[in-house]
Amino acid sequence: MNLHTIKEVRRPAAADEIAQWRTGYAWLAGGTWLFSEPQLATDTLIDLERLAWPPLSRVANGLEIAATCTIADLYHFAEPTEWTAAGLFQECSNALLASFKIWNAATVGGNICMSLPAGAMIALTVALEASYTLWPRGAPAREVAAVDFVTGNHANILQQGELLRRIHLPTAALTKRYAMRRVSLTQYGRSAALIIGTQDRTARDLLLTITAATPHPVQLRFDRFPSALELRRAIDESLPIDGFFGDVHGSAAYKRHLTYHLSERIRCELAEPEIAQ
Ligand SMILES: Cc1cc2nc3c(=O)[nH]c(=O)nc-3n(C[C@H](O)[C@H](O)[C@H](O)COP(=O)(O)OP(=O)(O)OC[C@H]3O[C@@H](n4cnc5c(N)ncnc54)[C@H](O)[C@@H]3O)c2cc1C
Repeated sequence: MNLHTIKEVRRPAAADEIAQWRTGYAWLAGGTWLFSEPQLATDTLIDLERLAWPPLSRVANGLEIAATCTIADLYHFAEPTEWTAAGLFQECSNALLASFKIWNAATVGGNICMSLPAGAMIALTVALEASYTLWPRGAPAREVAAVDFVTGNHANILQQGELLRRIHLPTAALTKRYAMRRVSLTQYGRSAALIIGTQDRTARDLLLTITAATPHPVQLRFDRFPSALELRRAIDESLPIDGFFGDVHGSAAYKRHLTYHLSERIRCELAEPEIAQ
């Protein structure tokens, strides 16, 4: 849609060109959300496209994803075979229900910064133990753990004008086993629960990441593989009965039920020995 409040679109070649931030500015990534509804509080868009950050870079200790990497680029990334958990790139992209037009424009960073409970790129990067690099205006860059970034429905730790620059996925997480379960009330609807378990093949541990059912990601770490009872107790300890996110995509009680059910399905799958390919 046309945004009738926009008076200026700035296209910096470097993020530092935007030294001063003021109310009314908004970073523009793929624009799939920004252009989907009126932005009455915004008069200036600052387009990230000309920053021309390389979308995906293999580094010595993992993978760096630029915030401006599109969902389509991530989906088509040809990962090395030992990065077994990179299968989640496709599975989480498919969980963000959208047409190819959205996929080709929407960015990984835009999805994270939207900070919706069902943000599939949030689920992906939290499950893969990512860290995010944030660029505040006029202050040094800072690193935060992905699990600490989203604080609630459409809420996160970004300060005014702060830019999400990149997402780093460590090799140790990319080489894990994983199991994912997702439920939506309708075939092409938003996730009611999106839960991912990962497991280090040597340690036989379990890292469970609960999203969509909760306002922000909740992560449970088990150094020793849990029994069904231990898993259920850990969920109860981390998530009070009012800790679930009810909306048109599912009531809080329904999402709580899904959380128990899907987490147990994941536990059962990862309890089984891996089948050699
Ligand atoms: C048809 C459709 C289906 C969708 N389905 C889902 C779904 O299933 N699950 C889900 O979570 N979302 C869904 N969305 C919303 C989705 O989160 C966004 O459309 C998309 O991921 C945002 O990416 P974008 O690059 O287009 O961001 P934009 O629309 O450009 O920006 C989104 C917000 O993030 C800010 N922003 C963007 N990049 C940065 C950055 N690097 N640093 C700081 N701030 C930044 C912008 O200022 C803006 O506030 C859907 C949207 C549509 C239109």
